[in-house]
Amino acid sequence: MSAKTESLIDLRDPRPVAGDLDVRGPRPVPGDLDVRWIHGAPGEPPLQAHHYAEHTVILRQGKAVNYEAPFLYLLFGEERALLLDTGATEDPAAFPLRATVDRLVAEWLERHPRAGYQLVVAHTHGHHDHVAADPQFADRPDTTVVPRDAEAVRAFFGFEEWPNGTATLDLGGRVLEILGTPGHHEASITVYDPWTGILLTGDTVLPGRVFVFDPAGFRASLDRLLAFAEHRTVTHVLGCHVELTTRRGRLYPIGAGYQPRERALAMTLGQVAALRDAAAAITGKRGVFRHPDFVIYQEPQRRHLVGLLVRGRAYQLRARLGWR
Ligand SMILES: [Zn+2]
Repeated sequence: MSAKTESLIDLRDPRPVAGDLDVRGPRPVPGDLDVRWIHGAPGEPPLQAHHYAEHTVILRQGKAVNYEAPFLYLLFGEERALLLDTGATEDPAAFPLRATVDRLVAEWLERHPRAGYQLVVAHTHGHHDHVAADPQFADRPDTTVVPRDAEAVRAFFGFEEWPNGTATLDLGGRVLEILGTPGHHEASITVYDPWTGILLTGDTVLPGRVFVFDPAGFRASLDRLLAFAEHRTVTHVLGCHVELTTRRGRLYPIGAGYQPRERALAMTLGQVAALRDAAAAITGKRGVFRHPDFVIYQEPQRRHLVGLLVRGRAYQLRARLGWR
């Protein structure tokens, strides 16, 4: 099929047009999460791009560039794409995010030609390892970079009663629903994509350390999130890091540059409910609370963080000496 024909979307015909967005097709579209993520092995690229499905790309930053190794999400709609998060490293030489996104967008536009295609760069929340490469997009044409502060996030998405209610972001034929989910960070959002059924939870729900800095806000956020999800089809819950090994409740040390036996990225709504229940059970307590599928650091005190850093340094030293 020529590129010209491929670009036509016949709205009278309910059958999917091969390779293009079919705004009336069945939802959610299936995708592929059977992927071996880069995890710090020698010779890995600084960035991995995995096509979950034709209009959905999941990226992972390499452990060699930054141990946080966050996941980033690129969602394509008819009129614009959303890049959710920009990773932990600003330097384009070390972490060529802009070049990678430009290539992915150009390839997508080759398959789905259209004029004036826009890019929105937004964030699951404002922590450094999710916004660091924003400056790479500052001079990109047809691009909006949403600032990281809570006020700008509320204004951009149009939240009237933050964090209550839901906002939307229309990519064209793909309308994302946005929830305010503060607790880990004051500007944390969760993005629901009806196209794939994926719930993007940032650092609020992830298979690793769940840092809770505002416990009451966090519990309320998870309650709202679960109430919202009751009326949606959720295929996968995807956070922004993997820090647990395949053993229940067993974490890689902070700063780990190599995670050969890390567990899968995807979580379930059942695990979100378990996190909500675990968070409710530790109301009024501070410290580290270990569970099979997540470890809560609630208002961690200095001694918890020092312990984390000591274990991390020891791990890095062993790695350098080849004992890992
Ligand atoms: Zn964070």
